[in-house]
This record gives sequence, structure tokens and C-alpha cells, in this order.
Amino acid sequence: MLRFRSLGSGSTGNGTLVEARDGTRTTRLLVDCGFNLRKLDQRLARLDLCAADLDAVFITHEHGDHIGCAHALSQRDGTAVWMSEGTWLATGAPDYAGRLHFARDGQTIDVGAMQLLPFTVPHDAREPLQLRCTDGDRQLGVLTDLGHASAHVMDHLRGLHALLLECNHDPALLAASRYPPFLKHRVSGRHGHLSNGAAAEIARAIHHAGLRHVLAAHLSQQNNRPELARAALALGLGAQEADMLTADAVEGSDWLQV
Ligand SMILES: [Zn+2]
Ligand SMILES: [Zn+2]
Repeated sequence: MLRFRSLGSGSTGNGTLVEARDGTRTTRLLVDCGFNLRKLDQRLARLDLCAADLDAVFITHEHGDHIGCAHALSQRDGTAVWMSEGTWLATGAPDYAGRLHFARDGQTIDVGAMQLLPFTVPHDAREPLQLRCTDGDRQLGVLTDLGHASAHVMDHLRGLHALLLECNHDPALLAASRYPPFLKHRVSGRHGHLSNGAAAEIARAIHHAGLRHVLAAHLSQQNNRPELARAALALGLGAQEADMLTADAVEGSDWLQV
């Protein structure tokens, strides 16, 4: 059994809890912990969990809304942390006391009852990786922070049963926003963030009868609105807007069965 939920998603912090169960064993992976320790503890406590219940943390890249309290968490609770070597170097190569493991594009990682497959994405970070997770049966994709869907990215999204997908901005809202021109350029660029329309194209391309959930995530609070992201995804999937789900910046989402 594989399920996931967002603990909050957006430029103020991202974290996705993925849980696999086989027989008596439960494995919990946190993908990104872009919060401070206090907030992470609070968000886990809402689920009757604590940081000691995490088997590992996977960090996608060094931006603060993703790496957040990874080092402090590992120091306090001895949590195993996975990230690319480039991500580690970009944060100043801190000492993780033997609890840091390097993730590489295309190399699978076993974490308890879960297997992860990291893959490279085009984003303005040193060595960003997004990933797919499986319990050997069901397949979940986690995909935020990329400027465009390269062929390499699309290759890794085949046959997914669920996808957490960045829907960062609405191009018209971004163009009209108070962001300075360089930032507008960065966000909408080939190594920035996905627009609602670009996300909808990905959803359309990977859609198949077994795709159960697409959760819109990493919505810009200034340059997007949940209903715009939902409308775009519904169009891409040929579904009803009311059935589309968005992860809230603070509340995240409910558990979703993959
Ligand atoms: Zn981000
Ligand atoms: Zn980023």
C-alpha cells in the first residue's frame, strides 16, 4: 500500500510525506522539509506523528523552500538524508555525521518498503533531482521546481498512478505582478517553474486509465489561484474542475491513496 500527502507546498515551504506498508512494516519518507523544525514538528503532530517516525528525508535541491531544516533535523533525530552531491555542495557541504547519502540520476534507492528513482530536472539549482516512489506495485511521481518538461523528465513519468505536480503560476498574473522583470524572467524561464498550462500539458501526456490522482502543488500565492490551476489540470486530463486537487501552502492536502 502506498499513500502520500502534502504537509504544505509553495514558496514558503514544501514537504510531502510518502508512506508504504508491506505486512507489518511501515516506511515513511519525507520528500523535502522546507520548514523550520518547529513547523515540521507541528505539521507531523497534526497526523499523530513525530520526526522520529521518519525513515528518511529526500531533498530535491538546495532552495530554502525545500532543504529547510534538513540538517537540523538530522542532527537532532539522527534522520537519514538523501540528496545529490551538488545539492550538498551548494549548501556549503555541512557535516551530516555519516547520515547523508548521495542520490544520483537514474540510480534506485531502497528505503524500507519503498524504492525511489531520482531523475534530473531543468531548474536553476546545482544538481536538482525529482523522483518517483514505488512499493513494488503502485507508482507515485513527485515533480516540482522545473522550468520545462524535458524528454528525460517525461520518460520518468510513464505509468504513474499518482503525481504531485507543480502548477506554479498563471502567465497573465505573473506578467501583471509586481515582481521585478528579472524575477518574472527567472520564474517563467526554461530553468524556472511550470505554468498551469505547462503542467496541464504534462498531465495530458501521462494520462491513462490507471492514473488516480494529480495533486497541484507549489502554487505561487501571488501569481496563481487554486481555481486556475484546477481548471488547467481538468482541461489537460479531460476531467471535472471540481474533482481536481490542490495542495495548500500551509494545510497541504489529505492522504491520497496511490
Ligand atoms: Zn520551490
Ligand atoms: Zn527551486
